[in-house]
Amino acid sequence: MRTVSIRWRLTVLYTGILIAILIILGSLVYVLLHFSLMSQMERELQTKADEVLKSTKVVSTLPFFLRQIVLPDVEVFAAPDIYLQIVIKSGEIVARSQNLGSYSLPIDPKIFRSVLQGNSIFHTFNIDNEEFRVLVKPVRVDEEIVGILQVARPLKGVDLAMRRLQTILLVGGLLSLLLSLVLGRFMSGRALAPIKHLTAEAKSIGKERDFQRRVRYSGPPDELNELAVTFNQMLAGLEEAYQQLTDSLSLQQRFVADASHELRTPLTSIQGNVDFLLQLDQKDPKLQKEVLLDISAETQRLSRLVKELLTLAKADSGLKLNLTELKIAPVLEEVVRQARFLEKGQNFILSLEAAEGVVLRVDPDYFKQMLYIFLDNGFKYTPPGQSFSFQVKREGEELGLIFQDEGPGIPEKDLPHIFERFYRSEASRTGEGAGLGLAIAKWIIEQHGGKIKVESEENKGTTFFITFPMHQQK
Ligand code: ADP
Repeated sequence: MRTVSIRWRLTVLYTGILIAILIILGSLVYVLLHFSLMSQMERELQTKADEVLKSTKVVSTLPFFLRQIVLPDVEVFAAPDIYLQIVIKSGEIVARSQNLGSYSLPIDPKIFRSVLQGNSIFHTFNIDNEEFRVLVKPVRVDEEIVGILQVARPLKGVDLAMRRLQTILLVGGLLSLLLSLVLGRFMSGRALAPIKHLTAEAKSIGKERDFQRRVRYSGPPDELNELAVTFNQMLAGLEEAYQQLTDSLSLQQRFVADASHELRTPLTSIQGNVDFLLQLDQKDPKLQKEVLLDISAETQRLSRLVKELLTLAKADSGLKLNLTELKIAPVLEEVVRQARFLEKGQNFILSLEAAEGVVLRVDPDYFKQMLYIFLDNGFKYTPPGQSFSFQVKREGEELGLIFQDEGPGIPEKDLPHIFERFYRSEASRTGEGAGLGLAIAKWIIEQHGGKIKVESEENKGTTFFITFPMHQQK
């Protein structure tokens, strides 16, 4: 899409506004000046006329028709550009300023009549393409109008002034227009420079996909600054999202690598045993059985591992558990019954009475899997003869499950990591687990809205505290 840059649009807008202002202002100045010059000229004509009229005299006291009306010597009043003429009632020109030469001021019969009736009239006439402004006033002798006085001045001066003004306005207007175009473009360019800068920065960040970068803006705290800040906030969000994506990707890669490694161990062992069986002397059934038992144990380990990996894969894909309200006591009893075969001479203490009548919102399959993980670990790590207990307690609105054993305990440095995937403490590396049990258990507990805590002391034992919100108490 072709775009008209804001810069040009702003420049044209500024210039447009300037033109409008210049036209209005110019016309106003023109009209006002014309009006002012004309009224000044008319005032002068008026003064001159009054002066002339004042010196009109009547000589002797003879009867009217014999009276000698002495009209003023217009020459006294005439200036080079003031023309005077007196016309008596009969239409005869009785006095004329010399500067008129052979010309006489034209007499419009209508104006003549009107002035003889006592009116003063301004009008403009044209001689040889030259304009004149004329004031025509009645000449009175003893209150009687005997003629008219015409005082004229060429409009040349006014016209000249107006033409000059026109030229000044036109040239000035054009110059301002040009200046406005250049300045407007320069100013809008300057005003838009930060936006250009921000755009370039954003473009380069987008191109390099470097979300750690931030746009630099060092202007005053104005709207553009706000834009830069907002943009940087967006970049921070993007960086976080991008980081999460890379983190989860590398987590996923590590998970796949660890899982493959864990799967390879039992598979290698099975492969080795099968090869051994193939070469084995048929007549040694005891050894044969031993090898087959080994294969069976590895197969079990493999199938447990696959089940665990499947659970974690589901967890990662955002699986939501199917929670239903359930009386929890029978579930606990069932899992304990199934886990009994894990006992190897430990002193197993059970206290499930507090769970009687308690209803939790659970997904039974996953809940059982979680319980089994703690029971399995308890029996696995508690040596024969030592105690391992599973107790249920009510604490306010919560139901607490406590697994306490007198096993080897977990070293302090391992404690923060035991819920991580594939984490096994040094001491238990040789064990059968892959270090996924507690990671799965924690996920299941959180899916049920529960919390887990662990306390452990080396050579004394470990206690897991798990709490779930109780849904209903009876
Ligand atoms: P695994 O399936 O290998 O047992 P877990 O995730 O259940 O893995 O446990 C992770 C690690 O936490 C174990 O390797 C072990 O070192 C430690 N651990 C878990 N439970 C106990 C316990 N009851 N006593 C001592 N160490 C434990």
